[in-house]
Amino acid sequence: MSIKSYRFDGGKNLRLQEEPTDAGEHKKEKAELVSRTAENLRKAAMLAEKLYAAGCEGLVVAIQARDAAGKDSLVKHVFSALNPQLLEVHSFKSPNEHELSHDYLWRIVQALPPRGKVGVLNRSHYEDVLVVKVHHLEKTYRLAPRCLGEDFFEKRYRQLRHFEDYLYENGYRVVKLFLNVSREEQKKRFLDRIEREDKHWKLSTADMKERSLWAEYDAAYEDCINATATQRAPWYVLPADNKWYTRYLVSEILLETLADMNPEFPPLSASELALVPSVKAELESGT
Ligand code: ATP
Ligand code: MG
Repeated sequence: MSIKSYRFDGGKNLRLQEEPTDAGEHKKEKAELVSRTAENLRKAAMLAEKLYAAGCEGLVVAIQARDAAGKDSLVKHVFSALNPQLLEVHSFKSPNEHELSHDYLWRIVQALPPRGKVGVLNRSHYEDVLVVKVHHLEKTYRLAPRCLGEDFFEKRYRQLRHFEDYLYENGYRVVKLFLNVSREEQKKRFLDRIEREDKHWKLSTADMKERSLWAEYDAAYEDCINATATQRAPWYVLPADNKWYTRYLVSEILLETLADMNPEFPPLSASELALVPSVKAELESGT
């Protein structure tokens, strides 16, 4: 099954209303896709080991979604398949005073993995054109008037495109995932957080109030994805109502991206290679 239909890289326009939020006809293939997920992740983990050994390219996966769309569970069930030594996961919350006194990419840059690793951004630089836009937070920022104005978000979209181009040209791949959950499924998951004591720690009444801004978020996601979807840093708009299906799609994206990066174990250097016979002989003759 191809993930192409979920990919946005500038070649087509996104209309969020037209995108599926559930697995649809793929529900009948559930058993097969669940076992494909495990197989994909096994292969992705092997490629990630090579990426780590080679150390010349890094992968950044930005996960964006509405509340309760399954960001945390994606990290737990999909990215956990990779060796923890080569994985860096960073969750972005509302910026504090100190973070707000810097440019908005400052905290993102610090969270990027070194080349060789896979960095997962659980929320990301995209919050700065999503929640900020929906709540007009830029109006509360201490910023010179010349930095504000009508084209504030257009400028940010351009900055984000340039930022990701910069990363690409400096040895990173950037992949952006939008977990597209339906209003009904989000309601169910919120009710579950209320019912189950073991989920109370995830419960936030503020998250529930955000539901009244559903259409505003729709528009903000659509604008931002259309403005920042590029070949080098594509968006994937993924149905998120069936977690097993989202996990399957992400396993495909991870495998395809790593395969395209095509990492190789580095060979021994000529000087090390020259020493191998004597070191081997020494090891074999000793205890
Ligand atoms: P869940 O999906 O389980 O609700 P979460 O990712 O929402 O998890 P929380 O700790 O509930 O995690 O919330 C993080 C909050 O931080 C979100 O409401 C998000 O919009 C907000 N946030 C993240 N980055 C920014 C930003 N740059 N500016 C303003 N708010 C931000
Ligand atoms: Mg939340």
